Amino acid sequence: MLSMGSAPFEFVNWARDRLPDYLWVAAQLHGGKERVLTTAVQLDLASAAIAEHVTEMPSDWVFDGTLSSFEQLPEPARSALLARLDATGTYEDFVPEGLAHTLAQYKDAPGAWLIAPWIDRGLEVTTSAAEDWLRPVIAAALGGQGTLATRSKALTIRQLLKAGRVHLGENIGFLELLPRYPLDTNDDETARVESNLRAMFNAIAPTAASDWPRTFWRSNWRLFECEWPNAHDDDEAEKTSAATSDDTAPTLRDYLLDLQSRAQQLWDTYFETATTTPPDLYDPDRFEVLTGLVGRAVRYVLSFIQTPPMWTMEHGSPILRALLETEIVFRYLLHTEVEEPLYAKFKNFGAGKIKLLKLHIEEHIDSLESPPEELLQYRDYLEAVVNRDIYEEFQSVNLGGSFSGVDTRRMSQAVGMESDYRFVFAPASSNVHGEWGVIDENVFTTCANPLHRYHRIVAEPSSTLIGASFVESIMDRATDLVQRYVAEIAEDVDDPHP
Ligand SMILES: [Zn+2]
Repeated sequence: MLSMGSAPFEFVNWARDRLPDYLWVAAQLHGGKERVLTTAVQLDLASAAIAEHVTEMPSDWVFDGTLSSFEQLPEPARSALLARLDATGTYEDFVPEGLAHTLAQYKDAPGAWLIAPWIDRGLEVTTSAAEDWLRPVIAAALGGQGTLATRSKALTIRQLLKAGRVHLGENIGFLELLPRYPLDTNDDETARVESNLRAMFNAIAPTAASDWPRTFWRSNWRLFECEWPNAHDDDEAEKTSAATSDDTAPTLRDYLLDLQSRAQQLWDTYFETATTTPPDLYDPDRFEVLTGLVGRAVRYVLSFIQTPPMWTMEHGSPILRALLETEIVFRYLLHTEVEEPLYAKFKNFGAGKIKLLKLHIEEHIDSLESPPEELLQYRDYLEAVVNRDIYEEFQSVNLGGSFSGVDTRRMSQAVGMESDYRFVFAPASSNVHGEWGVIDENVFTTCANPLHRYHRIVAEPSSTLIGASFVESIMDRATDLVQRYVAEIAEDVDDPHP
């Protein structure tokens, strides 16, 4: 005998592993709480009809309306039940026509013997009739916490209690509420009973060992079609309201021209400062590193603004991340320059990476009998780059993650950009690395057919709506960076940095 609290907890995947067995139950219960009573009465009448034939059933059998509980009935019990239903004129209530259309679609569906009278009468089963009947039932019963699923579970608990297969402990507080559930319990009481029932179901309901759940879901892919959600409805509405509210709204072309002109101004400001400021030829590292960082950022922006399809987090995150990282590094270099200038270290870190690449190329060349000329040229090119600032013999290869020995998050903390790191840099990094959440959000949409258990289907690549906000945020960041650059470098005009 089972009792509450003694069974180990096991996660039950209701929709996937149990619901297919509850098709009869869920269909009978679908449509209002009165159905709980009528379904219980149906089960009691059926139990009476089969009683004399089920005295020697296996110990784990309980007649709870699951398809497997019907399937386990021996032949005499099946005949007795069908005969009783026929005699009382209740067959069509007990076995709805839709259930016949449905069970006929699957190979070896448990309980399929129930529909034999329909077939004998010459019912022509069709997949579309099956879908019409099954879809609303499955849609309503998929959520394991939902009303229909909970009432389905309640019916199993009821049958287990009636069969004396389960004993509730003395201190089960909701016991006194059970006889009144669900017709005469108030909302609070109903919620209490239902959460207890669900917990009990998880703990004690017999597990269906058959392949039926697998067969059911896998067959549904072949039987029923995917339904694409109307992803463009909202977009259409937005376009319409934008068109009617403001006929003078700028076109994409106007906007692009404006954007190009602003980006060009940004470049001009940067370029003017970079070419008129004394570079400190005695020790040019500071000027060159700061100028290089900002120049790379503005070059990115100039190219990025030309390509509207990139103006989304999905496709624009690499540039957003690069801009943020540049800003963090730029500010961190300035933040540390009094205590410990890092400009030479920044250069050496990058040069060390190139030196390592050059060493690998040389190794590869040594392993070839006749290395191609292009490879030798590439080696020479790398050698020139590596030796540009410091002779390579004196250069070390730093395999750490950062030139400063401090990771990007801690650099962002040091310069007061931690919230940018958390809210912009980290999600942009997730995009760049192609983490699952990002893939899920962008590549897929959800099939709207509940008979497919709301699986993911590939979305149209054009489904993402582009807007100005992303590209404007890029422009804002780049503008801020250039302004900081001008302010820093301009100091040097009258007072050259030591
Ligand atoms: Zn689908």
